This record gives sequence, structure tokens and C-alpha cells, in this order.
Amino acid sequence: IVIVATGGTIAGIADSPAGNVYTPAQLTVESLIRQVPQISGKASVEGLQLCNIASQYMMPRIWIHLAGVVDSLFSGDHCDGIVVTHGTDTMEETAFFLDLVNAHERPVVFTGSMRPSNSPGADGPANLFNAVCLAADPAAVGKGVLVVMNDYIFSASEVTKTHTVNPQAFESPDQGPLGTIRGGNAFFYHPRHGRPFLEKKFSIAELANRDLPRVDIVMSYAGATSLLFDTLVKNGTEGIVIAGVGHGNYSEQIENSAKNAVRNGVFVVRATRVLQGGVSSDVENPFKGQVVSRSLSPQKARILLMLALTASREPADIQRFFDQYP
Ligand code: GLU
Repeated sequence: IVIVATGGTIAGIADSPAGNVYTPAQLTVESLIRQVPQISGKASVEGLQLCNIASQYMMPRIWIHLAGVVDSLFSGDHCDGIVVTHGTDTMEETAFFLDLVNAHERPVVFTGSMRPSNSPGADGPANLFNAVCLAADPAAVGKGVLVVMNDYIFSASEVTKTHTVNPQAFESPDQGPLGTIRGGNAFFYHPRHGRPFLEKKFSIAELANRDLPRVDIVMSYAGATSLLFDTLVKNGTEGIVIAGVGHGNYSEQIENSAKNAVRNGVFVVRATRVLQGGVSSDVENPFKGQVVSRSLSPQKARILLMLALTASREPADIQRFFDQYP
């Protein structure tokens, strides 16, 4: 199992005894592995330091680098599974990006921690142990990119961070976890659940030498003006995901701007700031040419749109990518 470390709180060091003031992304991958000697009874591990950052600084360029590393690790038979340690703030985004471009069946498991490494009750070692056990488990093969936090196993396409500080910080609000880990053993609730949705992955080789199209997110709320939306369009964004209210609705000003943007070739995806239910169709105020996000959150819809725009510029084709999600 190769542990690819990217930083985050799991590699963080507390400056205060209670651990509430700390600096993320301090420990190297070797120190992370040394903290969990129990791993050696489960798998033979190697560490690879990809970067060491707090995940609010994560960037699409690092996603592409990570995907290339995963692809080359899996190109031989040297590596049975990969664990990625990551800050929890954007873990769901990196995991989802990788899920969209990783065509290998062998397990890739993301994990992190909510408490820094030297705080009382640090959750990093237990999460890392679980992630390695899962990455080494044949039951995790073919399930797409997984996230393990606090003994629960989630699918990258469904999981989201739902708490800012508690170790129970991740959920799949609509679908629930795929399973759980006890004593280093994974139990999947439904063995067939967890197949990746996207039929054909985007080619990482084709993405390696280019920047992804720029896609931004605008939130709607009572009285939202179109200032941000219009500014993004003026500055050349190629797509805007609207984190709408309710079933993907947005204010009148944003609606007018969205109509104009679509007419001018900017892609608009209706998503929702609500945690459950997704956006399945243009229920209210429909107009031709906008795309609906289905079950993807705004931050995940943005990533799928960035990748979809590398494949097509037809709204109907873009919608077909989203339609592969429930
Ligand atoms: N903001 C930091 C990050 O995402 C710390 C949060 C965490 O890892 O839990 O890397």
C-alpha cells in the first residue's frame, strides 16, 4: 500500500495543549507512518510526499499531479492499493476529481483527521490505520475512490463534510455510508453498492498538459444580486454552478444573468445549497440550455463541469454526464 501524503490536520501540530490552535501540514509521511506501528501487521507500506499543505490551498493542478501519480503507481503490479492523506476541508473535492479520472479498479482510500497529531484524542492514527486496512482489502476493489473517516466508509461521489470540528465530520447525507470498519476489518452494508457512477472515466493523459476550464460557483440567497455572476462572466469564466436555494432556484437578478450567460455560451449548472435531494429537473422557471446537477453538491458539480467541458461544448452532452448520477 502506498500512502500518498498531501498535508492537512492529520499532519498538523497543536501549539496549545488543548489542540484548538494548531498548524496543519507539518509532519512528513514517514512520521505519519511511524505513529501507527500497528499498520505493519496489516500491510507493507511505502510513503510518498506529494505536497504538504492545508487543503484550503488545494488546486486543480495538484489534482492532476495526484491523478498522474496514482495512474503510474497502478501501472505496474507493485502497488495493491493507495491511501491519500488530505486536509478535511476539500477532501471531498480531491477524492471526487480522482474518482472521475481514475480508471483503475484497485482501491484508493482518502483519509485525514479533525484533530492535530499531538492533541488529546488525535483521530489521525485510527483513521490512517483504517484507511490502510481498507486499501488492502479485496472487498474494496472496484468501488471507486473511497473516503474513510471515524470508522465509516463513504463513496467519493456522495460524501461531504458536515461538521467543522467534531471527529464525526463526514456524511453522505442522502445515501448514507457504504460500510464501516471494526478492528481493521471492513464491512460493506450492501456488497453491490459503491460502483462508480460515471461509465467512462476522463483520460488523465489528456488532462496532463492543460489547465482545466475555469468554472466558478455563485450562491443564491434572499435578495442575491447578479453582481458576482456578471463579474465572473465578464472575466471569462466558462461555466457557473449556482448553489441555488431549494430545488436549485435562484433570485430574479441571477435568473436574468443566467439566461444571458447561456445565450452567450457560458455553461450554467443548477445545483442546490440544500444538503439532500439534489436538483433533478428545472421544476420552476425552466429555460433551455441550463444543466441540472442531479445529486452532486455545488462543489462537486463544478468539478464534473470542468472535466465535461474538456469533452464537449453541447449542453445536452454536458447534461448526460450529470445524468449518470442519481
Ligand atoms: N483546514 C485544514 C485542511 O483542510 C485543516 C482541516 C483538516 O484537515 O481537518 O487541511
